[in-house]
Amino acid sequence: MKYFTDEGDFDGQMHKMDPKLLDMLDALREKFGYPIVLNSHYRSPEHPIEAKKAKPGEHAYGAAVDIKCVGGEATFKLVKAAIEIGFTRIGISRKNNFVHVGIGYPDAPPMTIWTY
Ligand SMILES: [Zn+2]
Repeated sequence: MKYFTDEGDFDGQMHKMDPKLLDMLDALREKFGYPIVLNSHYRSPEHPIEAKKAKPGEHAYGAAVDIKCVGGEATFKLVKAAIEIGFTRIGISRKNNFVHVGIGYPDAPPMTIWTY
């Protein structure tokens, strides 16, 4: 990857991520134009957030990341860039200052946006 490292950004878990997601994340960073900090990337099905779901979600497939994002203007620009790059599953938390971008997993709605 051009903008992200396994140890610095993925805590050594980059091999668990979908290669398509990684390519799109680099492209998103390029288009967004500002540094991107990941709050969350791969989560095992046993991770507390995944374990309380009916089934493990997108992070357990290595098919999503949560990007730190503060403020309405930055959130607008990040979401706009994410849509332009081709992310089709986007979750926005203004309260907790992050944007989830994902590429989907089996049986998930392929195109959706939600808030937290
Ligand atoms: Zn997420």
